[in-house]
Amino acid sequence: MKPDKIGLAQLKQTSAGAAKGADWKLVGVIGGIILILGVIAAAMVVIPMINSGRREAKRVECAANLRMIFAASQIYAQLNKDMMPPNAEAFASYISSNDTWICPECGNVSGGGAGPAASSYIYVGGSLGKYVHRIHNASKVVLAYEPLSNHGGTGFNVVYLDGHAQWIAAERAEVVMREIEAQSSKLSSTH
Ligand SMILES: [Zn+2]
Repeated sequence: MKPDKIGLAQLKQTSAGAAKGADWKLVGVIGGIILILGVIAAAMVVIPMINSGRREAKRVECAANLRMIFAASQIYAQLNKDMMPPNAEAFASYISSNDTWICPECGNVSGGGAGPAASSYIYVGGSLGKYVHRIHNASKVVLAYEPLSNHGGTGFNVVYLDGHAQWIAAERAEVVMREIEAQSSKLSSTH
């Protein structure tokens, strides 16, 4: 009887010790899981922030390209009796880097065009014709824009005849695209 009792007590002690060890193991595992979940949660916050920062930078770079295209078109107009270049090829020589014609987000020639002016952008200034500096509301007349697909459908950049570039977010994209198409058809019918 006695040895049995001791045996039982010893057994209890040993199993209690083992349970304690197992408890700590469990705490370690849970702690590890919590840590991993924390890292995942942080990554879920930080990675989109990095991505949106990167996308924002590309948008800005893209808008700068369009402003450069505007500037080059103005050089052409000054040298050609106030007439806008009929197409992008006509003033491509005023832009030193071919990269200027390429949207940094899509990196391809989604806008068409040929030769050095093969581009991610669509130049519509050709339909403005002569006496371009006499055009009123230049801040609302589109000179060049890009397909909505360039920035994955999140929006697109436009440059206007007064040289300012604007990012059009996806919600307004359809309306503004329709305005641009209306402008092109209206101008081509008057010239
Ligand atoms: Zn772009």
